[in-house]
Amino acid sequence: MPNDNAIPLCEFKHATQPDCTKPATHKLRWDWGQEQKICQDCIPLAQQTATNLQRSATFASLENRPEEPLTRSERTALIAAKLAAEGEADELKLRGEQLYRANVDLTQQVQTHTLRAREHATQIQTREAQIEKLQERLEQREHQLADASAELQRLQVLVPFVGKETTPEDRGLPSSSTVDG
Ligand SMILES: [Zn+2]
Repeated sequence: MPNDNAIPLCEFKHATQPDCTKPATHKLRWDWGQEQKICQDCIPLAQQTATNLQRSATFASLENRPEEPLTRSERTALIAAKLAAEGEADELKLRGEQLYRANVDLTQQVQTHTLRAREHATQIQTREAQIEKLQERLEQREHQLADASAELQRLQVLVPFVGKETTPEDRGLPSSSTVDG
């Protein structure tokens, strides 16, 4: 007697056994689009077949029972789990904020050090330029000193003659002209 409300039977085909005739519990859908009803017992075989074929199969329950109300202990467990998850989320948020602040702090430190390093580099360049100028001036002074020393030596050679030039004899006059005159 055919009946629309009859329990669907398993349609999974076994390669080595007679066809299964157990009541189907799931709808099997192969990744190439084929669908068939399948019983609980045949699901592992279908999964194995999918693995052997290197294809995938998904299983959807045929039962659309409304969700059963939670028992008191299930509710308690769920609430505890929710509270624990919320606590963990708060902790993670706090930790995230700490890490963010630490990151901001470190970024500022790096910027400060970078600025200082640039300042120091500029100062070193300035000092190097100053040293270069001082060395140039030192060389100029050394040249001037050498010139002055040479001049001094020339003058020292000339000094004895200069002293004689001022004597009356050097001017071509007799030394006792005033007495003899
Ligand atoms: Zn079956």
